[in-house]
Amino acid sequence: MENCIFCKIIAGEIPVEKVYEDEKIFAFLDTHPVNIGHTLVMPKEHYLSIYDTPDELLADLAPVLKKLSIAVKSAVGADGINIEMNNGPAAGQIVFHTHVHVIPRFLEDGFQHWRGARGYRDDEMKDVRAKIQGALG
Ligand code: AMP
Ligand code: ZN
Repeated sequence: MENCIFCKIIAGEIPVEKVYEDEKIFAFLDTHPVNIGHTLVMPKEHYLSIYDTPDELLADLAPVLKKLSIAVKSAVGADGINIEMNNGPAAGQIVFHTHVHVIPRFLEDGFQHWRGARGYRDDEMKDVRAKIQGALG
């Protein structure tokens, strides 16, 4: 895809610290890491986000995420790994080529997970569950 920075990286037009490549998947170090070893994993084929990425390609991605989680954790001596995917601007997605973040975590790194500011009102939880089940079809 023209003008996609990740497509250019995959094509070798922009240099990166590549950590993994196979027929369908590509992975390299994020230049602005949350922690050292922060790796981006993606299909070589251009899709925007999880919504338009074919199921088969997501299935190809999963074992690579596992393999890289183990390798990155071992390489940087991390205590844990977060697997994160931003889908859409509201979720913080900046580069619109499907990708997943593999982020090494350390017990004392100081980062915290989000804490929901609100609970559910009355029957809201049941209503939301019913809406999600309805959307699943
Ligand atoms: P996202 O917010 O999920 O779209 O994240 C995009 C990520 O791509 C950010 O964490 C950037 O630091 C990273 N990034 C953007 N350009 C490059 C690049 N040329 N090399 C490595 N990482 C990049
Ligand atoms: Zn692309």
